[in-house]
Amino acid sequence: MRAVRALAAALLLAVTTAAAAMAAPEPTPSHYYLKGTIQPKTGVMTARLTITLQPQDVVDDTAFLLGARFNIRRADAGPGVKVTSEPLDLPPLGKLTRLKLAFAKRPTRPVILHIDYAGPLRAADDPDGNAYSAKLMELRLEETWLPVRSDLSLAFTADVDLKGVTADRVAVAQGQVSHRGDRLRIHRDFADSDLPIVAAPGLKKFVGPDIEIYALDLDSPLIRVFEKHGVQALAFDQKLFGPLPVDGPVRIVASPRTKGSAYARKGFISSSDGADEIKAHPDFDPATPAATIAHEFSHAWWWAADPFSENYWLAESMAEYSSMRYIEHAFGPAKLETFLVKKRKAAKDSGPILAGKRATRAALYQRGPLLLFDLQEKIGRAKMDELLGVLGRDPPHVTGDFLQALSAVAGEDVAKDFEAKLRAS
Ligand SMILES: [Zn+2]
Repeated sequence: MRAVRALAAALLLAVTTAAAAMAAPEPTPSHYYLKGTIQPKTGVMTARLTITLQPQDVVDDTAFLLGARFNIRRADAGPGVKVTSEPLDLPPLGKLTRLKLAFAKRPTRPVILHIDYAGPLRAADDPDGNAYSAKLMELRLEETWLPVRSDLSLAFTADVDLKGVTADRVAVAQGQVSHRGDRLRIHRDFADSDLPIVAAPGLKKFVGPDIEIYALDLDSPLIRVFEKHGVQALAFDQKLFGPLPVDGPVRIVASPRTKGSAYARKGFISSSDGADEIKAHPDFDPATPAATIAHEFSHAWWWAADPFSENYWLAESMAEYSSMRYIEHAFGPAKLETFLVKKRKAAKDSGPILAGKRATRAALYQRGPLLLFDLQEKIGRAKMDELLGVLGRDPPHVTGDFLQALSAVAGEDVAKDFEAKLRAS
């Protein structure tokens, strides 16, 4: 009887635990509140950053990195946490200060980290001055202007209150953006691992369904491509991967910078405006920038993999495959084939996708998408699209997530075979 009761209790416990696990909400993400002032002439920023660091985001050796050009006046995280700082040279990010957090014991509640710091947004050795000049302010993780966790992958929600962003600049960021006078405020209630801000005088705005595009010249041939294919690619992606997982429109900013390739954060793309290249090649193929836009957009779904690990193909190969699917949709199979021919050539000596570390560029962008097209050929387009729909609604963090979904859609043998292909050199 006792045994039966114990068993019943154990079963009841198991059931409640399972129910609790099913009902468990996503943990609250960590939050950044940045309040600061920029001196418009010099681009020197004085800031107070309050990071509400959730317990699940406290990792072994939790540390934050900030450009060494900033003077840190205060860094504390309350009782029970020791904050120390040390210099660190970390190419390509450059010279940094590493703020290390030592916890007396592992926190079970949010840790509030205050960092007061000041310094020039633009690094002294930055000849392009994209971070800060009279023509452009373009801030992102690479500019080391904002303390980020040292693995660069802490995702956080954000509120920003920055003074000194002069009224002549048009500001573009994620989430809700308000710019009144010289005060820029941002409220972003979805988590991302960066806080990109572009603010440049003279940007004009194009508004389409779920999309905004900013550029100095909305009528330039490149921006026209962004407008047409931005709208179409976004609709295509949402049909295939599920609803756009960000709140508000996605934004493309054609930044008046001269250098640097396009990059994406969630619902945010920055591309150089290509003004010089277009002058040199006025007869450019619109499929090329369309492919870039489609690739970057799809990162709103394909973002969750650790960039330092072998799982990173889940971001880049998936984005490139998605982009090629869009090229086929918008320009036809013959155009897709011209892209694939180049990819086959470039993929030859790429090395494997899965090799215990981040794959080579050629493996990520050329071989990976080709393997996905092979998979599509094998299981058929209907099953492939079903798989994309499953993954898009629950973005894969590790290769096992992908294989599990593939196994459910197309069978275990297909998943095993695909994994072998990912490992093959
Ligand atoms: Zn990418």
